[in-house]
Amino acid sequence: MTVSAVTLALSKGRILEESMPLLKAAGIVPAENPATSRKLIIATNRKWVTLIVVRASDVPTYVQYGAADLGVAGKDVLAEHGGAGLYQPLDLGIARCRMMVAVPDHFDYAAAVKQGARLRVATKYLQTAREHFARKGMHVDLIKLYGSMELAPLTGLADAIVDLVATGGTLRANKLKAVETIMPVSARLIVNQAALKLKRAAIAPLLDAFAEAVA
Ligand code: ADP
Ligand code: MG
Repeated sequence: MTVSAVTLALSKGRILEESMPLLKAAGIVPAENPATSRKLIIATNRKWVTLIVVRASDVPTYVQYGAADLGVAGKDVLAEHGGAGLYQPLDLGIARCRMMVAVPDHFDYAAAVKQGARLRVATKYLQTAREHFARKGMHVDLIKLYGSMELAPLTGLADAIVDLVATGGTLRANKLKAVETIMPVSARLIVNQAALKLKRAAIAPLLDAFAEAVA
């Protein structure tokens, strides 16, 4: 019996670094180092498994449309994407951080909330931020940014930001403080729902191998 070809989408940076030991434990060794290679499609020791390297926020899109069968994506990115067409069988427990609201050190967030102040909030995570403030019954003006959110309150662009925080080092370095946790974040294995049915013989053993590598 021939095994179906399977493509796994990863993103450079934390997800890639922290996925490599799990891949290795699952018996998958890339033909070259995806962190340093300029290639975006990388073969592995398992002839039927290919890696592709895409932007973190593009991983769910590749998997949703079946251009990749599997992927590793942060819960932050999945919350923004919505998860359509994706099966999310496994929390890999890697790239852990928290989605948080942060404000300048001197800003009294609790008082602003209490007074019903209309805050300007800069973020890359519009969906997550919108849902969070709606749940709190707060009116906010969301400003979409693509990076370096910390700069927004320092320049007067926004009163607050919604961003990922791991150690808090970046916030401290920019005289900001975290005031609210929106959700804990870690990376999940995602699978195209149709591929899981059509290529079950190839994908199921990979899922088992990842589950074992995580445990
Ligand atoms: P990019 O800057 O292209 O978004 P990153 O490598 O910074 O790429 O982030 C990729 C993913 O890693 C995010 O979607 C998130 O799930 C996770 N992540 C981001 N920042 C942190 C952090 N400070 N600590 C742990 N995980 C993080
Ligand atoms: Mg980053």
